[in-house]
Amino acid sequence: MSLRRMKAGYAMGVGIGVLFVVLGISSIAYFFTVKQVMGHSTSIYGNYFVAGIICFVFAIAILRITVPAFIPLKKKNLQNVRTCPYCGAIVDEDASFCKKCNQQLD
Ligand SMILES: [Zn+2]
Repeated sequence: MSLRRMKAGYAMGVGIGVLFVVLGISSIAYFFTVKQVMGHSTSIYGNYFVAGIICFVFAIAILRITVPAFIPLKKKNLQNVRTCPYCGAIVDEDASFCKKCNQQLD
């Protein structure tokens, strides 16, 4: 599979995820509107709340799979940067001591 097609697939996944977030928000918003009007939630309208939560869970599941696919593309340049194993600070490639915590680096 080509990278371009993969990216299109992931973009679609993000789109579906966002759609389910919107659907979840509207379902829960509808539930609270009905609850306010009626003063209590009946079992039928309570289902909108449950449906909203399910939409959110589904959306998060999709976004957790698809969104990280875009992140490595941006972070690729940072992979060659050397970091201190003690404090995580960025150190020079040939440094023998960390400038931040003064720990010896190997
Ligand atoms: Zn350090």
